[in-house]
Amino acid sequence: MNIHEYQGKEILRKYGVVTPQGLPCFSADEAVQAAEKLGGKLWVVKAQIHAGGRGKGGGVKVAKSIEEVRQHASQILGMTLVTHQTGPEGRLVKRLLVEEGADIKKELYVGMVVDRASQRVALMASSEGGMDIEEVAAHTPEKIHKVFIDPVAGLKDAEADDVARKIGVPEGSLPQARAFMQNLYRAFDESDASLAEINPLILTGDDRVIALDAKFNFDSNALFRQTDIVSLRDLDEEDPAEIEAAKFDLAYISLDGNIGCLVNGAGLAMATMDVIKLYGGSPANFLDVGGGATTEKVTEAFKLMLRNPNLQAILVNIFGGIMKCDVIANGVVAAARQVDLKVPLVVRMKGTNEDLGKKILAESGLPIIAANNMAEAAEKVVAAARGQ
Ligand code: GDP
Ligand code: MN
Repeated sequence: MNIHEYQGKEILRKYGVVTPQGLPCFSADEAVQAAEKLGGKLWVVKAQIHAGGRGKGGGVKVAKSIEEVRQHASQILGMTLVTHQTGPEGRLVKRLLVEEGADIKKELYVGMVVDRASQRVALMASSEGGMDIEEVAAHTPEKIHKVFIDPVAGLKDAEADDVARKIGVPEGSLPQARAFMQNLYRAFDESDASLAEINPLILTGDDRVIALDAKFNFDSNALFRQTDIVSLRDLDEEDPAEIEAAKFDLAYISLDGNIGCLVNGAGLAMATMDVIKLYGGSPANFLDVGGGATTEKVTEAFKLMLRNPNLQAILVNIFGGIMKCDVIANGVVAAARQVDLKVPLVVRMKGTNEDLGKKILAESGLPIIAANNMAEAAEKVVAAARGQ
């Protein structure tokens, strides 16, 4: 789960990580009020969307007067912001963050991520902040310094100081940088984050260490014990198909291919996507209808897949264990009729009541392409998606 920058900064402040003062706003009037409340002579108006690269896309603007705050706020609110993370369709800006302007001497980078290989949280830091860290990693990997944090000891003073020195924090600011990283680690750990990225972390003219941006991802498997985090969810920023899927207890993830997959069991769903790829196709989604799918659930699953304008064909791949093939077959037929299915549908079923299931499909009168094994199913659906 993702949250907005202003929400990330609220979490940071709770843990003692220094950020500029700022207020979220939903209109130009609110932005002006926020700037007046914050005081000072310099403000920054920042688009709040769940994607980075806003600066380059025109979603972060510095204002030197209240009038400029109003102008920037009016311009950014309601704009479709396109960044390298939003895709070409961009994202509609509905919220802003108005902050006090910062005096930036140097932009640095600090990030934390769960590292599976070491089974620890990896701290990554770089002197090259503000820009795409992926570029730095690709071209000058020696400029990224890492610490794999001991889960028992936490981030040790010496480790924090060492990394801070390597990224160019002056000696006098080391205690601040150390507290910054240790507090960030506590925030990360206690909120069950999977990623926290401060890009840029800045050094001010008077050598203070401040988080100018904040990006958090949280482990969705831990949300049951993170009610405060869940309350920060912004459904406007999430995939409508995935929100709809959650209502029906379907595990659904949108992908960028054109072959819809309806499968029971996450392992079989992964294998199905692999086989589609193997035969030169590209899945439009991951969809696990689970072990106890009903006709209603299968119908909803079809509706979800059909929302996707890129969809060219559907592959239903079912192993009938607890779930019986005839139940799925009834679901498929009912759903195909209800949604007036226009794309080719390939079905492969194996297991309990397989023959009954196949009979239901065959007698439905629907143009269903039957397949006897996964390879055949994949081959047929890839061909169907190509209109062959
Ligand atoms: P992102 O592009 O989505 O990562 O948004 P950021 O919050 O990182 O902002 C992008 C850039 O805007 C930063 O790297 C800074 O150079 C600039 N910026 C952000 N806040 C301020 C500020 O308070 N003052 C000034 N002068 N620049 C800022
Ligand atoms: Mn940033």
